[in-house]
Amino acid sequence: MIIKILILISYVIENIFDFVLVKLNDSYVKKPLPENVKDVYDEDKYNKWINYRNDSKKFSALQTLISAGITLLIYIFNVHSKIFGIFPFNQYISNIFLILVFMVFETILSIPFSYYSNFVIEEKYGFNKTTIKTFILDIIKEFVIGSILTIGLVSVITFLFEMFHNWGILFTIVLVILFNLFVSLFSLTFLKIFNKFTPLEDGELKTMLTELCEKYNVKLKGIYVMDASKRTTRANAFCTGFAKKTISLDDNLVNNYSNDKIVAVFAHEFGHAKHKHTVRTMWFAFFRIAILILSLGVILNFPIICQSFGFEGVNYFFAFTILSTISWPLSTLFDFISNKISRKFEYQADAFAAKEGYGESLIGALKQLSRDALTNLNPHPFVVALEHSHPTLSQRIDAIRK
Ligand SMILES: [Zn+2]
Repeated sequence: MIIKILILISYVIENIFDFVLVKLNDSYVKKPLPENVKDVYDEDKYNKWINYRNDSKKFSALQTLISAGITLLIYIFNVHSKIFGIFPFNQYISNIFLILVFMVFETILSIPFSYYSNFVIEEKYGFNKTTIKTFILDIIKEFVIGSILTIGLVSVITFLFEMFHNWGILFTIVLVILFNLFVSLFSLTFLKIFNKFTPLEDGELKTMLTELCEKYNVKLKGIYVMDASKRTTRANAFCTGFAKKTISLDDNLVNNYSNDKIVAVFAHEFGHAKHKHTVRTMWFAFFRIAILILSLGVILNFPIICQSFGFEGVNYFFAFTILSTISWPLSTLFDFISNKISRKFEYQADAFAAKEGYGESLIGALKQLSRDALTNLNPHPFVVALEHSHPTLSQRIDAIRK
């Protein structure tokens, strides 16, 4: 019983901690903006940002309260083990059933929140472009992909632990690392399930980007435009692939940003490639996976943890669930470290672009991106340290100009 209470307390503290971070950011909203980003918002836009922030904040507080309340009830009444017990004759079938029930439940629970977020808040501030049809298709696709991946992973891990006991931990670490590699190798394939990619039309932008690739010896597989505008007005771009790179630009970017700004964004991306940031980030991600799976091993070696929630012995899916509930201090620490590394890499990529003469265009692009996405220009330093993978706009501008 004491273990169960400790786990529930940990879950409550995690949610309170999130509220504290939001409150910290609140305390910075009233402070004057840094000098170098004062021109990002005019007064109208600034008021719009304040309202957008208030609406989003109230909504996410309500969402957290409801989800946390339901999760607590599920834990208190041992719902996991009750569902698992419906098919007591085979643990693989019971697990698949348990996973499906929870995924269906989570999906249904998320629909009203996601609907409100898209069609009320994002709509009110002009971000939303999603139609009901795309909205429903997205939910179905995410559910199918999520279920297949979760069921596959949990089944294989169950098998490994049953077969090799504690050695199973080692195999699981290797398996999850390979799985992560697989997901990042095929990230574009996954994206294609949700979006349409069309080759960038011949013209000035294509010539400029191709020349940029030649200049920095980046082998190019193709330049594509992604139809992000079918969901949102926000803009993004990325560069993926190992030996040969695929460049993807949101149509929102191509249609609304000057070619100079887009090229500057890719000069920044190639800065990442030049410094081999992807590979270096990956090592840390692998280390993180290894530590988390070791923690899973600890939970599995203490059957009393699963037993205090009504299971007869250990349950692999539930052990995962418990791990994600109690590992937040560890995850927060890992986020803190990985975000610190990431912010350092962002400075390096910016410096690369600046040294190559794209500094001012990059600043222009970053300002426009912040304005279009209604970004918080004055977040609390503690929140930045814990949660931001990028330095603040003001910090980046300062560094680029130096
Ligand atoms: Zn970057």
